[in-house]
Amino acid sequence: MGSYSVINPSTETVVTDVHLHSEAETDALIAKAGSAYESWRKVAPGERAALLRSFASEVSKEREALAELEIRNSGHTRGNALWEADNVANVLNYYSAAPERLFGRQIPVPSGIDVTFKEPLGVVGVIVPWNFPMPIAGWGFAPSLAAGNCVVLKPAEYTPLTAIKLGEIAKKAGIPDGVFTVITGKGSVVGARFVTHPAVRKIVFTGSTSVGRSIMAGCADQVKRVTLELGGKSANIIFADADVDKAAANAPGAVFDNAGQDCCARSRLLVEKRIFDEFMAKFEVAVKKFRVEDPSLASAEMGPLISRKQFETVTSYLEERVAFTGSAPNGKGFWLAPHVLLAKDTSARSWREEIFGPVVSVLAFEDEADAIRKANDSEYGLSGSIWTRDLARGLRVARGVESGNLSVNSNSSVRYWTPFGGFKQSGLGRELGPDALDAFTEVKNVFFSNE
Ligand code: NAD
Repeated sequence: MGSYSVINPSTETVVTDVHLHSEAETDALIAKAGSAYESWRKVAPGERAALLRSFASEVSKEREALAELEIRNSGHTRGNALWEADNVANVLNYYSAAPERLFGRQIPVPSGIDVTFKEPLGVVGVIVPWNFPMPIAGWGFAPSLAAGNCVVLKPAEYTPLTAIKLGEIAKKAGIPDGVFTVITGKGSVVGARFVTHPAVRKIVFTGSTSVGRSIMAGCADQVKRVTLELGGKSANIIFADADVDKAAANAPGAVFDNAGQDCCARSRLLVEKRIFDEFMAKFEVAVKKFRVEDPSLASAEMGPLISRKQFETVTSYLEERVAFTGSAPNGKGFWLAPHVLLAKDTSARSWREEIFGPVVSVLAFEDEADAIRKANDSEYGLSGSIWTRDLARGLRVARGVESGNLSVNSNSSVRYWTPFGGFKQSGLGRELGPDALDAFTEVKNVFFSNE
């Protein structure tokens, strides 16, 4: 069905051509995954664990090559790209402990025994966005394989290269043919087929809220299991009693990391009124220092946007009042300097919509109740930060903000051994951590009569 060219967003040059799988080719690969499932589910727990550890170890050996691909394909900074490759290995290692620990229960009943099993689902379809191609793929395929499922994975059109490489690495590590299959192509062809194909028993989708909504509706036809990780518009809340220097120094990274193309980006900045000017002065210094440059440099803190289209979408938000900007390279590539906007109020477009670019919208708040109210005035609820030296306030606000992943005096949201996911329209279900396996298994209850 042809191929298309993958573009380096830093230079606008072609990296390579990638095959667009047709629906018929997708069906054939799903059928192959279905056959592989019959033997994969029966692989002894210790053996499956060893294969996942071998996969992790091969990923670690290839971390430089994977990072280099992500820098060229996605414009990720070298520091981020290495972290992302390591995250895949870490997630595989973490879930390699699962096959031997997928415990069921024994429940007291009269006249026999009652036990539960955590059975695999079958073929799981993982659909990945372009913003974090490696980690988001790993969060889906590692627990899924550990639980005994086979995986078909569709990377985003813009960023398929590390996924293709991970497919090759899996093979080298001894993962049997058909157990983990990367299928490149269009969302409307390959992704849509995952949703309609009856042999795909679950969809793990990460991407925009609008596509997520249509996938959820599509899954309803077959009552197909679905996990959704969708958009975000997270708040970074700075109280007057915070370590203002630290909060300001860290605020650029909280929103401009990965050029703001991060579902957890703290793209709404809420600052307590009485420190507004002090905070903004310190924030400006930090934004001006933020290094936007060739992502292959070890010093780079931000690279380009993923595409011309994304550049045009993001720049359409820059009509609002600009407080200050950072800097970015000129010339070829989808470069945009970090922008700090002063929202006129909570109705401002930049305040309400997920921009997915290096743009932060700022508003002042009066007190704790006002901060919580403004933070919650959003259809999204994925992450967020709270900066305060008052522990009790940190606890109250963390409990008050409707969001799945919050940090107090920190902006980090992701640890592979803790749960990750969204409230409201930011998603459905949780990935990572100890509970993710529940999303890749069905509980089966069996009663054995002793009569
Ligand atoms: P997108 O929704 O356009 O695409 C995501 C994936 O879905 C791609 O692989 C695409 O090809 C596929 N797809 C598109 N249409 C489809 C269809 N009809 N059926 C099946 N698959 C289809 O999103 P994107 O632009 O690649 O990514 C950006 C979005 O992802 C942002 O909204 C961001 O917030 C979100 N995101 C969320 C998380 C999270 O964990 N919550 C993480 C990263 C990104």
